[in-house]
Amino acid sequence: MCEIESWSFQTKLLHNSQKIDHPTGAVSVPIQHASTFHQYDIDSFGKYDYSRSLNPTREALETVIADMEEGTRGFAFSSGMAAISTAFLLLSKGDHVVITEDVYGGTYRFVTEVLSRYGINHTFVDMTDLDKVKEAIRPNTKVFYVETPSNPLLKVTDIKAISSIAKAHGALTFVDNTFLTPALQKPLTLGADIVLHSATKFLSGHSDVVAGLTVVKDPVLADRIGFLQNSFGAVLGVQDAWLVLRGIKTLHVRLAQSIQSAKQIAQALKENPAIKNVYYPGLEDHPHYVLQGRQAKDAGAVLSFELENERILRDFVSKVKIPVFAVSLGAVESILSYPAKMSHAAMPLHEREKRGISNSLLRLSVGLENSEDLLRDFKTALSASRFEEKVFQRGE
Ligand SMILES: *Cc1c(COP(=O)(O)O)cnc(C)c1O
Repeated sequence: MCEIESWSFQTKLLHNSQKIDHPTGAVSVPIQHASTFHQYDIDSFGKYDYSRSLNPTREALETVIADMEEGTRGFAFSSGMAAISTAFLLLSKGDHVVITEDVYGGTYRFVTEVLSRYGINHTFVDMTDLDKVKEAIRPNTKVFYVETPSNPLLKVTDIKAISSIAKAHGALTFVDNTFLTPALQKPLTLGADIVLHSATKFLSGHSDVVAGLTVVKDPVLADRIGFLQNSFGAVLGVQDAWLVLRGIKTLHVRLAQSIQSAKQIAQALKENPAIKNVYYPGLEDHPHYVLQGRQAKDAGAVLSFELENERILRDFVSKVKIPVFAVSLGAVESILSYPAKMSHAAMPLHEREKRGISNSLLRLSVGLENSEDLLRDFKTALSASRFEEKVFQRGE
């Protein structure tokens, strides 16, 4: 007899607690639009009373993500930033956060411009350097905030090591797992307390929904997040919850295809003389290649690369044809973005430069196009851009 626990992650994406709607037998989770629910008994209310507090469609998604991350409870929010901001509401005035320095731009903005107004301070550190992490600890440090691989430089932080530093200090570890998803990395199994997602990216996967997810293991902490989700109220709508549920069903195959292409592209870019640097933890000479292989199943489908200068970058962006040039990542179509003006525009220039997010850096999220087509497109655009640079330098 084949038990559900023994099934692979890939199979469980389809055959899980939400496989069938039991009252009807429907093989797709029904979308429950009701905001309020009739109560049959004046003294004891049913499981559902009001959809901000609990809604069956949102609950289905929350159950699925909790199982995927091996947590006890999941929570769905109206955006990744809503999930992240709500988790930070666990903190109180006078608390301190140690946070990874090349964090997502929106998280940077929330921590520096919102939390700071409530008397919650922070220290940015390069979390790949554990000594620096320890130096940043203060008596009032309550949260260690990790994003790995980081955005956009794909640095890898040791989740196990940070979690044990945090535990020894009585603090919590938050991990933004957007880039890898539980298909590749499960932070709760490595000691983290809270996993955060922008489900806008790989989990939903089709650039058609904005959503956030949180997963917690400890039941007491889960109750606190549940309380904050209901109090702050940035819950995910039911249509969007359904879209994320549908996207998750194909997560495994989408990632497998995109990772395979990402590896080929990273290698080809590394060998291309027009490229100064390639950042991808799936390349053997990436400084954290071994750590990445230890804590995650694979390196993911996002990579960054640096061109010789901004002029070549601008020319390349104007010539490359397949990827959309846009913010965001983790979609069926390849997305090329310019961190300096997109994801990290909220970061002041000197802070960006300090972190190595230069004006000649591009980030690529590899989609599902044929990898040979992508490679050819990149190669052609790069050689044309370099040719024009030579003409420019000669002053013709
Ligand atoms: C996009 C993103 C976020 C923010 O999520 P939204 O859904 O856009 O609010 C947070 N962290 C990472 C790593 C992201 O890529």
